[in-house]
Amino acid sequence: MATTPIKVRLFTPGPVEIPARVLRALSQVPPHHRTEGYRTTQRLVIEELRTLHRTRGEVFLFAASGSGAMEAAVVNVMAPGQRALAIGGGKFGERWASILSAFAVAHELLPVEWGQSVDPNRLDAVLAADASLAVVFATHSETSTAALHDLQQIATVVKARGRRLVIDAVTSLGVHALEQDAWGIDVVVCGSQKGLMIPPGIGTVSLSPAAADLIEGDRLPRFYWDLRRARKSAAQGDTSFTPPVSLVLALQEALAMIREEGLEQVWDRHRRVAVAIRDGAKAHGWSLFAAHPAHGVTALVPPAGVNASDVVKRLRDVHGIVVANGQDRLKGQMIRVGHMGHYDLGDAAVVLNAIGECTRALASAVPARA
Ligand SMILES: *Cc1c(COP(=O)(O)O)cnc(C)c1O
Repeated sequence: MATTPIKVRLFTPGPVEIPARVLRALSQVPPHHRTEGYRTTQRLVIEELRTLHRTRGEVFLFAASGSGAMEAAVVNVMAPGQRALAIGGGKFGERWASILSAFAVAHELLPVEWGQSVDPNRLDAVLAADASLAVVFATHSETSTAALHDLQQIATVVKARGRRLVIDAVTSLGVHALEQDAWGIDVVVCGSQKGLMIPPGIGTVSLSPAAADLIEGDRLPRFYWDLRRARKSAAQGDTSFTPPVSLVLALQEALAMIREEGLEQVWDRHRRVAVAIRDGAKAHGWSLFAAHPAHGVTALVPPAGVNASDVVKRLRDVHGIVVANGQDRLKGQMIRVGHMGHYDLGDAAVVLNAIGECTRALASAVPARA
């Protein structure tokens, strides 16, 4: 008899499960944004975000998805005629190149095999060979392949070459150690529906103190994303446009949860959950796609004879568990299990148990080889 799952559990690499505390915060009647009460809330949230980014610089918040924050970084950093380097290795690394193309910014794409992480020596060689590459755009946790790039090493290389560094930390902020100021990262962008544990709709851009001047002067066309205007408004405790008020209240709660647990403990919990999922999946015959796997998402390649798309479907239909398929050219080759934000070892056990059941059920449907 077919059974319908009574619960739906999100194990997608964004959006993620929303903790009950955050849901309660979301249910408040939104205050008007031009009030002292709301200004105070937003100021406190920005303070907490600075703690999360480990920066003494500025953090700006937009009603946008993560890609909006990426575009904001490009238009505020790039001067007309300047050239850039985008580091590939997956859909999101290549998105930097797509945004640069959309604004007709001359750029190079440093190709990285999907599933691998960029070799800092190759990055150094590319920068050494071309002094005109003024800004490097890179990804910390590449969600499409679940590979983690060594951000500290990337930052060391880029700084030593005297270039600027912009990082997509959408699936690493609140998941992995990230030290914006200490590592010398000029700009960090993030989105709200991943490690920040709230629904989609907030994009953030942070500038390290060393990058404060980076947004001034002649840059690409910018209006909504103009950080100079956002900076002026922030000085009055205000925002230039209507902020996503309800999501800011939710973010305040989520950031309080991170503070109460302790940021280092949060990073370590993600590591332990990721290790449990990797080890458990291997025991079911699966293998890891990424050579250096991230802690917020795991890309799993099924054992021979098991079709990844069938597993995605069975997990949803039988177990109520939603995972992601491979993206783009990786579709059908893997499942991507998200576990960033409010996930613990109990959640790991739940998803592993279901993966085990699917593996047995779907493998047994395949005739045994002679
Ligand atoms: C989710 C994600 C983004 C932003 O995607 P949106 O759909 O625009 O929120 C950017 N980079 C990475 C690495 C992501 O995982």
